[in-house]
Amino acid sequence: PKGVSQEYRSPEAEPSVLHASPVRIDIEQLTLSFGSTEVLKGIDLSIEPGEFFAFLGPSGSGKSTLLRAIAGFGPAHQGRILIDGEDIAGRMPWQRDVGMVFQSYALWPHMSVAKNVAYGLEERRVPRSEIKERVLAALDLVGMADYAQRYPSQLSGGQQQRIALARTLAVEPRVLLLDEPLSNLDAGLRIQMRQELLQLQRRLGITTIFVTHDQEEANTICDRIAVLSNGIIQQIGQPSELYDNPVNEFVARFLGTTN
Ligand code: ADP
Ligand code: MG
Repeated sequence: PKGVSQEYRSPEAEPSVLHASPVRIDIEQLTLSFGSTEVLKGIDLSIEPGEFFAFLGPSGSGKSTLLRAIAGFGPAHQGRILIDGEDIAGRMPWQRDVGMVFQSYALWPHMSVAKNVAYGLEERRVPRSEIKERVLAALDLVGMADYAQRYPSQLSGGQQQRIALARTLAVEPRVLLLDEPLSNLDAGLRIQMRQELLQLQRRLGITTIFVTHDQEEANTICDRIAVLSNGIIQQIGQPSELYDNPVNEFVARFLGTTN
């Protein structure tokens, strides 16, 4: 497949205190049901180390369910999920070393920004001196170093989402999972934050899956896209491949429609 030998980390990336060792993800014949309703119907895909990969599809197509299965949330499934060749299906969410950011930022309202970002590190019993350093590095990555002592209610939606991202990156996950992280932001900010997200992803070189129903969003920032409908992957490819050579009517229409 295309992209196999591609180097996704930007060569000019400055080093950060936070480390990412780009991992590969393989999903093999993943099937998942809620009760008697099958919502993922045999998903096969591979994501290269450091790749910025999108799950794109309309509402209800199974994007969040697939992302949550990778994170270890949701009902049991059939099929395998491999990170760097290791099957993680039996592991609890906290043993998988993946970080997830949701559409709703879900920050603790009673904790300062610094405390919010530190929380996951304290839970993992990271030494105090290192926590301080990693919190600052994470806030710096998202351009929020000056906001450490603020409270979530004093921040805009975009700023809160940056903090949610910093909180996730501070624990140095192997994989970054983003479920429609920009959907709650107004249009102008959404476009600005696309670019920020891309720069951040390139700087860290972290393998990233970005879930969206917005084809333009996926096109502008992702290396490759898996188009989903009804729990089935219709096509996987670089944005230009999907655009130039859609395999079916669904892909053609979905990519051709801008909202
Ligand atoms: P998307 O993120 O693409 O909008 P979802 O993964 O949320 O889609 O949902 C895929 C399908 O699974 C939908 O038909 C949805 O109604 C169903 N579904 C999702 N979560 C649950 C749940 N907890 N219980 C029952 N059905 C669910
Ligand atoms: Mg969803």
